[in-house]
Amino acid sequence: MNRYWSKQIEALDPYTPGEQPRDQQYIKLNTNENPYPPSPSIAGVIRDYDIGRLRRYPDPESQELIESLATYHGLESNQVFVGNGSDEVLAHAFQAFFKQDDPILFPDISYSFYPVYCKLFQIEYQQPALDGGFCITIRDYASTNGGIIIPNPNAPTGIALEIAAIRELLADNPESVVIIDEAYVDYGAESARQLIPEFPNLLVVRTFSKSRSLAGLRLGYALGHKDLIEALQRVKNSFNSYPIDCLASAVALASIADEDYFQECRKRVIASRGRLTTELQQLGFEVFQSSSNFVLVRHDKEPAETLYLELKAAGILVRYFNQARIENCLRISIGSDPECDALIAALNTIINQENRS
Ligand SMILES: *Cc1c(COP(=O)(O)O)cnc(C)c1O
Repeated sequence: MNRYWSKQIEALDPYTPGEQPRDQQYIKLNTNENPYPPSPSIAGVIRDYDIGRLRRYPDPESQELIESLATYHGLESNQVFVGNGSDEVLAHAFQAFFKQDDPILFPDISYSFYPVYCKLFQIEYQQPALDGGFCITIRDYASTNGGIIIPNPNAPTGIALEIAAIRELLADNPESVVIIDEAYVDYGAESARQLIPEFPNLLVVRTFSKSRSLAGLRLGYALGHKDLIEALQRVKNSFNSYPIDCLASAVALASIADEDYFQECRKRVIASRGRLTTELQQLGFEVFQSSSNFVLVRHDKEPAETLYLELKAAGILVRYFNQARIENCLRISIGSDPECDALIAALNTIINQENRS
């Protein structure tokens, strides 16, 4: 341990994001980014931006952006919180709601940032196991707990919960905050935001990184009862008063305004997912039923690590998890159709070679 470090730092277990190679040689199907650019209207927003405004601090309340999101989701402004990426919103939510006497609950196979926050904020957790088909069992979450967080659709399985199951989860846990992380909801799951008027313990977390093609902008938000939102504001205003910069706000507003483009890109990804699923199945892969912009797959003969390495050598990055229960799975983001074609061609070559040797 370095003698200058705070004691806790050595014990941390930081998150490792998917590779972001600096050379642009790879077909990147490893971090669930959108294959399509964001709304073309954004180019004009950036080009015409009055740089004089950058002298000033941004609005600490991000009022215009919050109002736009509230209108979009049919909620009041005091039911919306914005942050620098949904990872930041999640971090604030862990601090605001999950520092309790009882452990929090999230699935054993889920977004790997959750245990990282638990370590950072010294929160105990338990991880109910997904069933054999990688689905969440709602009754596993009925025991006393300090809070619950579930991605819907789940990552990295891509499998979605029905809204009735989320309702049951909320009804079983009136004493806990239940966070539904909807990073991928636009690709086929039903949003829990409709349950907000009914459940004061529900927080829905969203991001502009995936379905809005704005991972580089860093913008996420939360929807929920105004008392939950107030708690998030208290944490935020004890940490960083200005998480949303002026440009990010202007760009996000333009993205929200271009609903047609958003819908078009979303539908293209869903259509490509259907096609890719069929082609992967023809190559001998088991493909879990995805409601996301990625598929989790397992081959009946080829080990996942070999496929990952050979694809990388062929210039295609996918996500391989060296983690119990999914050590033989690959998570493949849905690319553009030419990218999906390149993936299938490369897998074809790899699998046929392996069979011959
Ligand atoms: C990508 C992702 C996030 C983080 O999104 P950012 O807004 O880019 O920080 C949160 N949760 C899940 C499940 C994700 O996959």
